[in-house]
Amino acid sequence: MIDLRSDTVTRPTEKMREAMYKAEVGDDVFGDDPTVNRLQETVAGLLGKEAALYVPSGTMANQVAIKSHTQPGDEVIAEVNCHVFNYESGAPAMLSGVQVHTLPGNYGVYTAEQMQAAIRGPDHHLPPTRLALIENTHNRAGGTIFPVDEMKRIRSVADQHGIAIHLDGARLWNASAATGLDLRAWADLADSVSVCFSKGLGAPVGSMIAGSKVFIDRAHRFRKVFGGGMRQAGIIAAAALYAVQNHRSRLVEDHQNCRLLAETFAELPGVILDLNYVQTNILIVEFNDKAPYDGPGFAAAMKEIDVWLLPTAPRKVRLVTHLDVSRQDVDEACGKIREVWKQEL
Ligand SMILES: *Cc1c(COP(=O)(O)O)cnc(C)c1O
Repeated sequence: MIDLRSDTVTRPTEKMREAMYKAEVGDDVFGDDPTVNRLQETVAGLLGKEAALYVPSGTMANQVAIKSHTQPGDEVIAEVNCHVFNYESGAPAMLSGVQVHTLPGNYGVYTAEQMQAAIRGPDHHLPPTRLALIENTHNRAGGTIFPVDEMKRIRSVADQHGIAIHLDGARLWNASAATGLDLRAWADLADSVSVCFSKGLGAPVGSMIAGSKVFIDRAHRFRKVFGGGMRQAGIIAAAALYAVQNHRSRLVEDHQNCRLLAETFAELPGVILDLNYVQTNILIVEFNDKAPYDGPGFAAAMKEIDVWLLPTAPRKVRLVTHLDVSRQDVDEACGKIREVWKQEL
């Protein structure tokens, strides 16, 4: 079976399991787990931040960050298709009591002008704009990279208005691998950053929040409030540390594999796909009304022949490449995609 539904489906490698087996551990709620501490220091260093905090999930990372930046009744600016607004179960409203002000982006990218226009004035009818979110790479837009130049312009608008920026960098690793830019190209422009170890890097669990020492102290308290304090978490942190040290450079293979899948689809009649926006490891394919399948129909036909992908809308499917998908798997999947398409033409 070739599982292209998500890069979260990877299983720990032998070497990763070995690192987990050998991990030194302690009680991390007491700050005593040496492996967690090493992971936090390593990732804070990579992101150019003073401190970092290990959390169980990317959702918790984002929500603890939002809670740490805001007060109830504040407003948070975000791109309309972002993960925080769509896939975190209403958490900003439920956990932080904030309102999300959404902006329509181009493949996940909003502009400094759009942000400027969304910032509220001092009128007592209006909620204070406190935080702006940026997602890089952008999941629902198909793994697109947020341009550094636009983020610089957004930073300057944020500075003029005393607004903080949180970077949802669940897949910031992919943005860095695809562009050759350092993670800090984006991280330096944000007050806080979250990254995931459980996506393309292939670790079984965990995410990190990074920021200033003062910010991470606040976040530490809210991690406890949200139930995210973990004990001998070095067992899973060891896998994350292994992934950060060994699996970053191979992400470019995932990007090449994703491109092969994209090129295969681009040649099929009835497919809507702009190859310029296939930039990392996520491919979103849209079918027009002349296509032989709709999204769920195509996913079902592919599943019959052991290629799993995800219908994400009535006429859309998503494919994601990752650590457990080889070049050979992708060649096989491309052949099967052409075959299944031809059968119904
Ligand atoms: C996966 C993801 C998250 C976190 O998801 P979890 O399932 O909670 O780990 C956050 N942001 C983006 C953009 C993601 O793709």
